[in-house]
Amino acid sequence: MLDEAMEGLRSAFDTATKRTADAIGNSRSYVERAKLRSKLNEAYRMLGMAEYEAAVNGVSSMEQINGLIGRITDLRNAMSEVNRSMQRVHGFYCPKCGRESTAGDIYCPACGAKLPE
Ligand SMILES: [Zn+2]
Repeated sequence: MLDEAMEGLRSAFDTATKRTADAIGNSRSYVERAKLRSKLNEAYRMLGMAEYEAAVNGVSSMEQINGLIGRITDLRNAMSEVNRSMQRVHGFYCPKCGRESTAGDIYCPACGAKLPE
């Protein structure tokens, strides 16, 4: 009887520990993803500027543009990798309210925010 109670307590503790670990892992992934998104936005901005310069001045640096496209592709791949690992380890979580959702949901069932792909 006592053993059963202890076992129940232990499994509740394990679940709580796992939840905490998941929450920490998840917040790290969110930080990582936010960093990647900001780098990606910067690369898109620079690509836009390079294209603009090319259109206005008629001078285009294919080397610069190709370099930026390569960088954007790398960043997008890194972003997909973070998204995949978050989904693999933690299931699907809403970036706005943190509510877990099921695979294939487009909008959060709790707050209605658009979920990451
Ligand atoms: Zn939500």
